[in-house]
Amino acid sequence: MQFVRAKRTISPLAELYPLPIQFYDQPPSGDISLQEFESLAVERLKLLKSVENIGIGYIRGSEPYNKKLECELRKLKFPYRIFNEEKMDDYEMRRKDHISHFILRLAYCHSEDLRRWFIQQELDLFRFRFGELYDKQQDFLKNNSLEYHAIKEEEKERYLEKMKSSFGQNWKECQVFYKVPFTEVLELVRVRKVFLRGGVAYIPHMEIVIIIQNEFRQRLSKSLALTSRSLPFIQSDERLQPLLNHLSCAYVGQDYSVQKHVGKVSLDQLDGLATKSYPPCMRQLHKALRDHHHLRHGGRMQYGLYLKGIGITLDQALQFWKSEFIKGKVEPDKFDKSYAYNIRHSYGKEGKRTDYTPFSCMKIILSNAPTQGDYHGCPFRHCDPEILKSKLQSYKVPLAGITQIMDLVKGMHYQLACQKYFELTHNIDEVGFSLSHPNQYFIESQKLLSSSRDVKKESSQPESTQRSQGSHSQREVSSRVSKTTSKTESTDIEGINIEELLSEEYME
Ligand code: SF4
Repeated sequence: MQFVRAKRTISPLAELYPLPIQFYDQPPSGDISLQEFESLAVERLKLLKSVENIGIGYIRGSEPYNKKLECELRKLKFPYRIFNEEKMDDYEMRRKDHISHFILRLAYCHSEDLRRWFIQQELDLFRFRFGELYDKQQDFLKNNSLEYHAIKEEEKERYLEKMKSSFGQNWKECQVFYKVPFTEVLELVRVRKVFLRGGVAYIPHMEIVIIIQNEFRQRLSKSLALTSRSLPFIQSDERLQPLLNHLSCAYVGQDYSVQKHVGKVSLDQLDGLATKSYPPCMRQLHKALRDHHHLRHGGRMQYGLYLKGIGITLDQALQFWKSEFIKGKVEPDKFDKSYAYNIRHSYGKEGKRTDYTPFSCMKIILSNAPTQGDYHGCPFRHCDPEILKSKLQSYKVPLAGITQIMDLVKGMHYQLACQKYFELTHNIDEVGFSLSHPNQYFIESQKLLSSSRDVKKESSQPESTQRSQGSHSQREVSSRVSKTTSKTESTDIEGINIEELLSEEYME
């Protein structure tokens, strides 16, 4: 009897997805049900939202960041690692990753804002997963025709000391070095972390990720632009169109233009609110408006929509801007002709009647950088470090806190710097939320201040009454407001119905 050794068959999925990451160059083929289409899209969106939140809450690439992201990927069953014995489930996860990426491309290609958000989250995800490939990184590069050739031993010996001194403290012993055109590693050149010679950068293997991620970003950005051209065709499909619209709305999370809270803030409260509950970007705009009785277009848009988001009505807005502008050089007539239209426009009462939403941190940080004479933008991103320091001093941020904030700014962690500012100005140890929007900052601040008022009221009641009421709010906020209570005594804001302001619609 003759035994023939069974031929090992490779499943089509294993052939398609040899590694847990890819550049997503080829769209998936085959049929899926609408139900699966939707559930894959929602799962990826969940993952990308988590990537965004982790990126705000932790320093990218740090150990806690990597741990948190790994945990999230594992929980949502997205591939990120190679196993010795790969199972069918692993390939199935890669298939799901492939399809869901392409579905979100359809949903996130039709505006610059959406594209920017999508690219940022996908890039963060890619960077982490590429790091997890370890010794399979070369395979990945080869599969994607990105072969970089290592320099010879002799050349390495010649420049080793120079490479070491270019890297300074970041130097780690490394065996393999590559020579690449310096234009491919501008990030390293910008922070002087690379040895350059004749237009060529010498980089150790661990820095290759910078080149790969640039490649990923370029490819994705190009593909999104191409996908957006096919949108009219996709939007004519009445099954897909509402689903894709819904998905693309989901990225902003909270809609801060919700009109439910309109009229809950009066104009004479604004100065007090600016000091206590505005993030620095809006505090700076409010002050500039009060000082100069004028703001240029970028400032009027950023601040005007924020005010709308905190509940200022159209009539209040017209009154507020007019009263300031006529204190400056603008005649009342000119205001009515030139400026009132734009305010009504931003409230959706003119032109295309679009109800504009307040700007998110991402939008403020990444677009329309301020120039001379502008006050919009994010101070953590756009201010000169010395000006930012003196601004923080004038806001009474303690010296040690300013150093912490400046360190975060230096590392380009602007939202983390703003969270730190929140902690220091509200006298709490940890914010307990991931900051992504100036109106979120306002709401969280008001929530905190109102909770501390409740605690204060309860602690001034007789002990028996406190016990009968169960001190619910005190238990809830005790850790966060314990230090705030004493500070906010003189900063209570009257007249805002915080219960309504903090209804589930605002608080998710
Ligand atoms: Fe404003 Fe966001 Fe910058 Fe804070 S991080 S100052 S909320 S743009």
